Amino acid sequence: MLIDLTLSDIAQACDGELVGEDYRLSAVVTDTRNIISGCVFVALKGERFDGHDYINHAIQDGAVGVVSDRAVEGVSYIKVVNTTLAYGAIARFIRDAFKGTVVCITGSNGKTTVKDWLTQSLAEKNVLKTRANLNNQIGVPQTLLELDSGHDVAVIEAGTSFTGEIPLLANIVFPDMVILTNASGSHFEGLGGLEDIAKEKGALISGASPGASVILNADDMYFDYWCSLIGERKVYSFGFTASASLYASDIKLEAESSSAVFHYEGAAQSVTVAGAGQHQIANGMAIVLAMLVMGIDFKEAVSKLAVPVNVSGRLERLSAKNGALLINDCYNASPKSVEVAIDVLVMQSVEKTWLILGALGELGNQRDEIHHDLGIYAKNKGVSCLICVGPVAGIAGAAFKDKGGSAIFCNTHEEAATIVRSLDKKHAILVKGSRSAKMENVIEALIN
Ligand code: ATP
Ligand code: MG
Repeated sequence: MLIDLTLSDIAQACDGELVGEDYRLSAVVTDTRNIISGCVFVALKGERFDGHDYINHAIQDGAVGVVSDRAVEGVSYIKVVNTTLAYGAIARFIRDAFKGTVVCITGSNGKTTVKDWLTQSLAEKNVLKTRANLNNQIGVPQTLLELDSGHDVAVIEAGTSFTGEIPLLANIVFPDMVILTNASGSHFEGLGGLEDIAKEKGALISGASPGASVILNADDMYFDYWCSLIGERKVYSFGFTASASLYASDIKLEAESSSAVFHYEGAAQSVTVAGAGQHQIANGMAIVLAMLVMGIDFKEAVSKLAVPVNVSGRLERLSAKNGALLINDCYNASPKSVEVAIDVLVMQSVEKTWLILGALGELGNQRDEIHHDLGIYAKNKGVSCLICVGPVAGIAGAAFKDKGGSAIFCNTHEEAATIVRSLDKKHAILVKGSRSAKMENVIEALIN
């Protein structure tokens, strides 16, 4: 841990009362499989598990204290109203002791890509980053608790699936630097309309430290709104028009990478951006701007973008057993990321392009309209064939077919995989759908 921590520090951090003896702690643990002697156990309540049911287990394995929403027998405990909030408050206590730079990334799309790519680009520094996609009220504190005195920078991903989650996370992370990638229509179900989404993301700006640097997407329709939240903080913008602090011109999009010229404070640098698609140039600009704000030389910063970041399941290029190009984008899907993936699919130099689409989740009452529009989008962009898995994705298929496209309707992943199994290297297949659609089953069936 970054600092020595006692039970009374924790009680102070989370505004709880310590009942019993005070101890110096070896760790803060929420999972009984990770208990070590001398730790404090925070009893979190999840959807499936309640940590309070495991308190005795934690004590037996060596916990010297418990953070709990009820009284505990036989060990020191800190009683709080809500253990999840208490966990966040403990993480904030640690974060406040950290002397390095804390970067926090939010937005509708590209958080994990930017987080992993920025971390990779900061190779000369000792960076702690959010593992995988642990971007919620449990994952964010968990990451901050891993800070140690060797770290120079923390790069934290903050996600949101209900209104009010970003303000909570901002209060835990209290970032020195914010990167807000964009706002688009994801998570309508928990967050309402696009304006609500933009407000939710904007809460990371208002919750950042008063001296924070804030990196914003100048092309986003909520850019001016986010600027209105800046206060004393300093705003830096990126985009495709010359009004942005860092902007890109001379864009050339190719199948696997792009090139552009980046402009910043009167200087220009030619850039190769690994990864296909204009969105990847936008992600690249956000990363370079973050490095510039950290004092890294412009030329050195842009050179990092030539090195691809491999984030599994995000536009990952694989080869199917039959030799066809397989674009695995099935980690998750928002409407915007489907469009971006279709743009990349149709950029490939092949004879025929196939989109295997599973349902997009969490769209509330906009579900049907969004699937319909994606079918039209795919047709307008020239996708050769749309294979839909399940009835919701079928709405996209019906729209695609209505516009004169060739759509195939399947009920299972295996059925979809069977249709493209006999293709060859003259074909590119994009597989996409929300986490709940489990489209990785199609990928598995095609590479194994
Ligand atoms: P999540 O909310 O699931 O954590 P995320 O914001 O972390 O998502 P990524 O995991 O980086 O985003 O990417 C998710 C999808 O969005 C991928 O399909 C990826 O290709 C696409 N994507 C990445 N960057 C952008 C961008 N700037 N604009 C639109 N889509 C993007
Ligand atoms: Mg993510």
